[in-house]
Amino acid sequence: MTLSLNEFEAILKENFRKNSLAELLSEEVTQKLYSLCDLLQKANAQTNLTAIDKTEDIIAKHFADSLLAYSHYNKGASVIDIGCGAGFPSLPLAIVRSDLKICALDSTGKKIDFVKSTAKALGLDNISAVCARAEEYVATPGVRESFDHATARAVSRLNLLSELAMPFVKIGGSFVALKAKDGDTELKEAEKGIKLFGGEIDTFEKRTLIEDSGLESQRAVIVIKKFSPTPEKFPRAYAKIAKKPM
Ligand code: SAM
Repeated sequence: MTLSLNEFEAILKENFRKNSLAELLSEEVTQKLYSLCDLLQKANAQTNLTAIDKTEDIIAKHFADSLLAYSHYNKGASVIDIGCGAGFPSLPLAIVRSDLKICALDSTGKKIDFVKSTAKALGLDNISAVCARAEEYVATPGVRESFDHATARAVSRLNLLSELAMPFVKIGGSFVALKAKDGDTELKEAEKGIKLFGGEIDTFEKRTLIEDSGLESQRAVIVIKKFSPTPEKFPRAYAKIAKKPM
């Protein structure tokens, strides 16, 4: 990265202040986010991990955006991040919430390799990474309904995503979905499926993500509580889910 730690910190502080996240910053968190940004840019120069590569954009669109729902996870909870890509939201969340135990899941090997090596480099012992498809990994013995929370950002529409996520969640836990401006439309489409998977809509929170330039984008945090077991027939094979979401 071309910026010094002090220069990076100034941009980070200003952006997190605008996005009501300033309380998350400490010297240690700032240092870790600086290292994460640096490692992401270096890895991205070798292999395409993310289209978001400029420091200011990484701070707003990866770090702040990943943390908009940080308060929706119970203290000490286990969280699975489905389709984590290069570690979003899982890596920033593991940095600011050291009490959480996070499993970052993605089907692309090079992305999971990045998450694993970055977690090691940053000394994060509260995150593990698994390379698998969600609909297959959930069938691993001991995995189904074993997480307090599932989360996902930018993976698929909510009706499809709920079928992948809800089987991982314990009864009493929740699926925290990070969505863009059409979150309310997605929620309407997904309502029937959410009930079938044992869930109920708990929270729909409209948020605004503010970028360095001042540009504002609409976001939605959707929390779906799990009230009853997800029937064993879910999740179906991915092709079936994609062809006909519930
Ligand atoms: N969540 C990250 C973010 O917000 O930057 C990555 C988003 S990327 C657009 C979508 C990711 O979901 C890809 O890395 C892809 O490999 C992963 N993915 C899609 N379907 C999946 C599935 N069924 N199981 C596991 N990973 C999946």
